Amino acid sequence: SKRVAVLTSGGDAPGMNACIRAIVIACKKRNYDLIGYLHGYNGLIKQESISLSLDSTHNLIQQGGTVLHSARCKAFTEEAGLKQAAANLSEAGVDALLVIGGDGSFRGATHLADHYLGQIIGIPGTIDNDIAGTDATIGYYTAIDTAMNSIDKVRDTADAFERIFLVEVMGRHAGFLALNAALSSAADYVILPEFFESPESEIKKILTQIHAQRRVRGSVSFIVVVAENVWPQGLQALTKALNDSGITDVRPVTLGHVQRGGTPVSNDRLLATSLGEYAVSLVGTDTSNVMVGEVNREPTTVPLTTTSDSKPLNSAQVALMKSIMNERYG
Ligand code: ATP
Repeated sequence: SKRVAVLTSGGDAPGMNACIRAIVIACKKRNYDLIGYLHGYNGLIKQESISLSLDSTHNLIQQGGTVLHSARCKAFTEEAGLKQAAANLSEAGVDALLVIGGDGSFRGATHLADHYLGQIIGIPGTIDNDIAGTDATIGYYTAIDTAMNSIDKVRDTADAFERIFLVEVMGRHAGFLALNAALSSAADYVILPEFFESPESEIKKILTQIHAQRRVRGSVSFIVVVAENVWPQGLQALTKALNDSGITDVRPVTLGHVQRGGTPVSNDRLLATSLGEYAVSLVGTDTSNVMVGEVNREPTTVPLTTTSDSKPLNSAQVALMKSIMNERYG
């Protein structure tokens, strides 16, 4: 029999619980022991864990957040912390460690492999979808829905007052969430890290679009989706720049952490369930230091070290959004 451990690390994402549930069931099926480390890598260093039995899976699939809690952990980035974590894993008799998290968590896991001889398997969990080796990450689909629904609401008030709204969505340094939120909410413009040129050229294009729309349709609302961390000096600076350029009534909205919460949508539950089962199916094989993912709906593994590689946006979606942003309105 095997002893498996799981933890959730880095930014939490809807569907992490669904994945924990899948792991509990997959371990039970194989008669593996399962423990859950608390608070990301902190629990590993402090030997803080709980046992996870079938009882703990009741009503878990639909819960946002993570019952294991997540955290950043500075100590884990230092040699002493990594050694302590490895010693604790050996002491607890853990044969395989499953890490649900983002690329930072996988970088940490790679370093742990220098000290820990057991198996390490990563499972992509982040709303940002910025992990290479999988088409989607657990939490991404729910975050798109949350952003889309929020933008729908912003549009109602924008329409009523014929205002211009700038809506900032999360994504770290990737535009997946912003692009998909923009397309699914029929936003008029999107600012993404992947094709950001300069503040001047973006402002020029936004003004051109606003003026073109107003010529044709009269005074109308205009929604700009802005990916976080793109605009130099942030959303307020963009708001000011637009207000200064003669467009009045520009309002900024930062969606913020609402995007990390909520009950996971079906696609995130399905992905979490498949990846949890697949990860446990690899326990006991000689596959290690990999991340499990799904490409074209098929389970795959890639080395943890390649998960930080750059991952392109969907080119058809990019072309479509660009054509929307260049529409000439007659
Ligand atoms: P998200 O992108 O969704 O926030 P993430 O997993 O990328 O998730 P990070 O904060 O980057 O989140 O990383 C989580 C944790 O992983 C860090 O707090 C740290 O403990 C560990 N970690 C990250 N980078 C390293 C590294 N180079 N060496 C050791 N540990 C690391």
